[in-house]
Amino acid sequence: MVDDTTAQVAGVSVDLRHWIGGRRVASTGRFVDVSPIDETEIASLHAGGATEVDLAVQAAREAFPAWAALPVAERSAILRRVADGIEARVEDLAQVETRDNGSLLRSHRRGVMPRVAMNFRFFADYAEKELGHPDLDVRGHRERISYDPAGVVAIITPWNAPLMLASWRIGPALAAGNTVVLKPPEWAPLTASLLADIMHEAGVPAGVFNVVQGTGLEAGAPLTAHPGINRLAFTGSVPTAGRVAAAAAANIVPLSFELGGKSPLVVFADADLDLAVDLAVEQFDNAGQVCLGAFRILVQDTIADAFLERVIAKARNVRQGDPREEDTDVSAMVSRTHFERVSGFVERALADGARAVLGGGPNDDLGGLFFRPTILVDAPAGSEILTEEVFGPVLTVQTFSDEEQAVELANDTRFGLAATLVTGDRARAERVSHRLEAGTVWVNCFFVRDLGAPFGGNGKSGIGREGGIWSFDFYTDIKNTVFSPTGWMESAHG
Ligand code: NAD
Repeated sequence: MVDDTTAQVAGVSVDLRHWIGGRRVASTGRFVDVSPIDETEIASLHAGGATEVDLAVQAAREAFPAWAALPVAERSAILRRVADGIEARVEDLAQVETRDNGSLLRSHRRGVMPRVAMNFRFFADYAEKELGHPDLDVRGHRERISYDPAGVVAIITPWNAPLMLASWRIGPALAAGNTVVLKPPEWAPLTASLLADIMHEAGVPAGVFNVVQGTGLEAGAPLTAHPGINRLAFTGSVPTAGRVAAAAAANIVPLSFELGGKSPLVVFADADLDLAVDLAVEQFDNAGQVCLGAFRILVQDTIADAFLERVIAKARNVRQGDPREEDTDVSAMVSRTHFERVSGFVERALADGARAVLGGGPNDDLGGLFFRPTILVDAPAGSEILTEEVFGPVLTVQTFSDEEQAVELANDTRFGLAATLVTGDRARAERVSHRLEAGTVWVNCFFVRDLGAPFGGNGKSGIGREGGIWSFDFYTDIKNTVFSPTGWMESAHG
């Protein structure tokens, strides 16, 4: 800690206050930020509440008319400078995020932070070059569809990929001409503060982007209930989403939800087994703290033993350890609370009759918050471990006999974020993918997605879709203006 307003985290100076109306704002309360790597305190942040939320929404409202009126090319140029700023600070962002939420440094450097920059660049380009429709001509009436900015967008994000998930919402919201109030996760709040610095340096006007730090109850809840917001984009868990939805209902604000999952990985006997094994083991990435993770492995019974043997053998070579080391594959749980939650799920599953064929508990060699990559078999049908989101490095394995049963098991969930299918048969791929109930279906691949494609969940996994035009559908007020051919003082064609 340098002083009460700044901390040095992984050698990077991070401001611990809010960013409101183009300046740093302090609070009297504090909340402590602990690193999952070694459970040490890395920062004590200023804890916002209703007062700071109100200031931020006011600042965003004041900044809105000028930002919305800026020609789209100018707004997009500023957002491209934000992307440049992120690219210039990839190393700082990666170091701080790793210290803060314990995800792998190498993934942050090579994949996640470049994608953060892309979230700004892509939507800036889209708003400038692709948003809009040719006018419709209906019996001589010209109908013009326009995407008007909606106003102030409240964005609330979780800790598992904090900057990536925030930028995925902030990019299109700002590109559409809205202003933003972000409430980052209290378990990983730091990169949001660095983003405020980058926005400022890139020339984003005061009040266009605001950050209120704080806990969900103290800062998140007043933001969701604030009468000055026009959109509410929430990424997080189902229980919290219920509370957020209640606030949005009272406020009559459109909302977009990206929530949890319990996605299947369906492996048919005709699959390329090397690929299927790789995809199964890939689910341990980010210690299983991935909303899209395919943690329910469903494998055809004729190959189940051979497949499982190979998955276990490969998973044994997964290296667990410090996320800052280049050869680490699996890191720690984000917090003591979450570690205990994951442990509880596995303990109850074992008590219910499941068997651990790999792992099954904390990694006592490493101590701290490290939970061993775990594979469970024989979990009773309908049991908690097969139905609830664990959000940890825990895979379950079930078998099926034919295509019908595979589809039935895959769809037997209240979630519907994603599904992954591994088969060597194209006709089967067409049939089964068509029947899988999920927002994203991957066939013989995983985690590949263009920013122009729709993303979102069915069932309890979310409400709405984002990406490409679907983001602008949410972040704008779409208007149809109908011009009559008559009533003009001069010739309609003149
Ligand atoms: P969470 O629901 O506990 O918290 C998410 C955010 O909501 C945090 O910023 C928190 O402070 C805030 N919050 C908490 N209570 C609030 C309230 N009453 N009002 C307003 N805000 C409140 O979720 P988490 O544990 O941070 O994240 C993990 C969850 O996020 C998992 O369920 C995961 O699947 C989900 N997730 C979904 C996606 C997706 O794109 N579908 C992506 C990442 C994570």
